[in-house]
Amino acid sequence: MEENKEQSAQRRRFIKGVTLGVGGIVLSSPIMSFMSASASGDNNNRKQLGIALVGLGGYSTNQLAPALQETENCYLAGIVTGTPSKIDDWKKKYDIPDKNVYNYENFDEIANNDDIDIVYVVLPNALHAEYVIRAAKAKKHVICEKPMATNVEDAKRMLDACNENGVQLAIGYRLHFEPYNKRVMELGQQQVFGKVKSITANNSSDMTSKKPNLWRLDKELAGGGSLMDLGIYAVQGAVYTMGEKPVAVAAKYGEVTKPTFFHDVEQSINWELEFEDGVKAKSNSSYAEEQNELSAEAENGWWNVSPAYAYEGKKGETSEGEMDYPNIFEQVNQMDSQAESFRNSEKSIVPGEMGLRDMKILMAIYESANAGGERVVIQY
Ligand code: NAD
Repeated sequence: MEENKEQSAQRRRFIKGVTLGVGGIVLSSPIMSFMSASASGDNNNRKQLGIALVGLGGYSTNQLAPALQETENCYLAGIVTGTPSKIDDWKKKYDIPDKNVYNYENFDEIANNDDIDIVYVVLPNALHAEYVIRAAKAKKHVICEKPMATNVEDAKRMLDACNENGVQLAIGYRLHFEPYNKRVMELGQQQVFGKVKSITANNSSDMTSKKPNLWRLDKELAGGGSLMDLGIYAVQGAVYTMGEKPVAVAAKYGEVTKPTFFHDVEQSINWELEFEDGVKAKSNSSYAEEQNELSAEAENGWWNVSPAYAYEGKKGETSEGEMDYPNIFEQVNQMDSQAESFRNSEKSIVPGEMGLRDMKILMAIYESANAGGERVVIQY
């Protein structure tokens, strides 16, 4: 999922900040809504919120920190890292003062730092719960990367901690903020081509051909394999195409063709989500293939977005022709939108509750696969 510098520079040239209304019409940009809100005179509420990134690995380094150079409603104010050798570079590159640099031991002192309004947890999956709960106790709003946790109980504890401490919790579901996936939500939920009849959503990436992060192969730290990391996007895609929760699932593990990598977590898994009126969404996720699509057949038409989940290069087609939207720096829109909702004491459009819902779906998928493909009713 990482990109090279040239791709990154190319992306910066794309139009930033496009939001879509019904029918894909451009309605407003965050800049415009920011200006009109400022003009309302509510200046206290207009402060740029300070974000501290927790975990300075690939995603923070290559996506979130660069995105935070372009955000309007928030900025990179601090870092939390267990690797002292990274500190100088980050401080210099992003002008971060010493007082806003933390490690995992003194992290709780962030409670006394007024520069930090939001803690963004970008650690291996199994560590999300601990750091979200510590951030909530420090009375900071929280953004947590996907998957929210590695089990339903942790996700509930995270949500409870945020509610008890009066802070907001959002998940890093970036695709809710970019035009192609937003159009899919409209096409499906508003029945632009009639009712959806079936969905195909696949997300796979061959990590065996790259150098994998070792924690992703470790069940303790990752919670599972390709489903937790990649399949979650396909689950999300099916659910936001329908705009409703699936009621049941049947799943099977794929064959292990690369046992040197996959002896602890699954290499691949395929599943079929079932919605209330019988619509089925078929999906696959694998760490040893390349797949990236979200498509649907409806009563009077169809659509296909591929790649659908990549950071850039998204392409799409419907039965009426090409989908023609700009590829944007979606993490900019994501964090601007989340900061704006926190500032207004409102839930993000991708709240902790959505993360918890998805954990329940993911765990039901594993339950079915562990039972050899038995249909499992999803308990919410
Ligand atoms: P990474 O391996 O590149 O970075 C993980 C960071 O956590 C490293 O800085 C590492 O030093 C630190 N860390 C702290 N304790 C650790 C431990 N016990 N073991 C291993 N590392 C430890 O991973 P990443 O790709 O940046 O992923 C981090 C999180 O972000 C994951 O939850 C992942 O699912 C999510 N992510 C989301 C997207 C997205 O598009 N939304 C993309 C990539 C990653």
